[in-house]
Amino acid sequence: MSDHTPEHDPPEPLRSPAPRVVIVGAGYAGSHAAVAARRAGDVEVVVVDQDGWHGFLPRLAGVAAGRLRASDARSPLRELTGVEVVRAGVVRVDDEAGLLVLDDATTLQADAMVVTVGSGSPAGSVPGSSEHAATLHTPDDALRLRRRLARTRQLLVVGAGATGVQLAAEVAALRDDIEVHLIEVAGRVLPAEPQRLSEDATRYLHRVGVRLHLGTEVARIDRRGLLTGEGRRLDGTVVWAGGWRARADELLPDAPLLDGRAVVTSDLRVSGLRRVLAAGDVAAHRDVLGRPLPMSAQIASQAGAVAGRNAAALATGRATRPARLLELGRMIDCGARGVGRVGPVPLGWGPTARMVPLLHLGIDARHLWQLGGPVLALAHLPGRTRPQVDTGARPNLHAVS
Ligand SMILES: Cc1cc2nc3c(=O)[nH]c(=O)nc-3n(C[C@H](O)[C@H](O)[C@H](O)COP(=O)(O)OP(=O)(O)OC[C@H]3O[C@@H](n4cnc5c(N)ncnc54)[C@H](O)[C@@H]3O)c2cc1C
Repeated sequence: MSDHTPEHDPPEPLRSPAPRVVIVGAGYAGSHAAVAARRAGDVEVVVVDQDGWHGFLPRLAGVAAGRLRASDARSPLRELTGVEVVRAGVVRVDDEAGLLVLDDATTLQADAMVVTVGSGSPAGSVPGSSEHAATLHTPDDALRLRRRLARTRQLLVVGAGATGVQLAAEVAALRDDIEVHLIEVAGRVLPAEPQRLSEDATRYLHRVGVRLHLGTEVARIDRRGLLTGEGRRLDGTVVWAGGWRARADELLPDAPLLDGRAVVTSDLRVSGLRRVLAAGDVAAHRDVLGRPLPMSAQIASQAGAVAGRNAAALATGRATRPARLLELGRMIDCGARGVGRVGPVPLGWGPTARMVPLLHLGIDARHLWQLGGPVLALAHLPGRTRPQVDTGARPNLHAVS
C-alpha cells in the first residue's frame, strides 16, 4: 500500500480518490465482507490479514490426519476475491481518527472498518496446556500436528466438541497405528448439540476405535501427556480442542463485551463506535429472534456479507441495513462420514452419515462461488479423490468404508 505511513511521521495520510473500507482479517467473515463491500460499489476495499491467506478451518482435522493437503485448507485471499490484501497484523483500531495501526508501526486510513479477527484457543485454562498441548486453529497448527503424529503412538484429544470429535474420528479412521483417546468433561460428546447427534457421533467414534473418556476432567498437561482429575495418567500427544474464545478487547478496548465477543448493533456496528463494524467469531451475533448465535463459519459468512455492505454504506453516507442472521444447521465432517443437522433434522444415522461430507463439500462450493464464481469454486475445492495420506502411515480403509 502506498499510503502506509509511520505512526510518528506525517500526520496527513494520502487520501485515495474513493472512500476506503478496510477489513481486518481474511477468514470467513472478512472474505465475505470484502466481496460485499466491493460489490456495493464506490469504495476502495483493502483487507489486512496477518498472514494474507483465507483459512478453511473446518478442513484442518483432515490436514492433521493426512487426508487433505495443507493447500486444501488455505488459499491466498487475493486469488479468491481479487481484493487487495495487505499482509500485516493490526494492533489498534482508532474509531475517532479513522485509522488502523499495523504491527510495523505504520497506519492505514479508513472511512469505515470491519473487524473480523476470529477467535483463538483459551490457552492456560488447565495447568500446562499452553506449554505442552498442540492446538488446531490454523493450517500451520494442522501441519505441525501432522508432523507430531508421524512419531506418536497415542493421541489424546481434550474436548469432544465439533473440533475434537472431527480430529479424533479422522485420525482413528486413517491411522491404525495410533491409539486415539477423546477426553470430555461433560457426560456426552458434542454437549452443545442435541442428544441424537451425540449418540450418532458416539457410535461412529466407537466404530473407528476411538476410546472415549466422558465425565473426565483434565487436571494437568505435561511433556509426557496428561493427568485426569481422578489421578489417571495417559501418555501421548495432547491436542487441546476445548473450545475457542474471542479476544475482541485486544483491538477494541472500549467495546462492550459478551464472553470476549464485541457487542454489536443490529447493523453490526460495534456498540458505541461510529465507523467500526465487527463480524464473525469476534462479534456477539444474534439471530432474527434475538437468540445468541454460536461461533461458526456459516454465521461468520452471513454476518461478514452484511458488515461489508454496511461498511460501504457508512463510507459513502448511505443508510445501513439490519442483519438478519439464521443458523441453518451444523455439519461435523469426519472425512468419509459425519454427523450434523439441517435445521433440527439430524444427519448421521444409517446412510445419512455419508451425506454429511457431501453436504459439507456443497457448503464449501457455495462459499467459494459467492466469493469468486464457479471456476474458482472448482479450483479450490479440497481434492477428495487424490491419494491423500502422506504421513507414511497405512490408511485403515476398512474403518471408513
Ligand atoms: C478446527 C476447526 C474446525 C471447525 N469446523 C467448523 C465446522 O465444521 N463448521 C463451522 O461452521 N465452523 C467450524 N469452525 C468454526 C469456524 O471456522 C469459525 O467460526 C470461523 O472461521 C469464524 O470466521 P471468522 O472470519 O470470524 O474468523 P477466522 O476464520 O478465524 O478468520 C480470522 C482471520 O483474522 C486474521 N487475524 C487475526 N488477528 C488479526 C490481526 N490482529 N490482524 C490482522 N489479521 C488478523 C487471521 O489470520 C484470520 O485470517 C471450526 C473451527 C476450527 C478451529
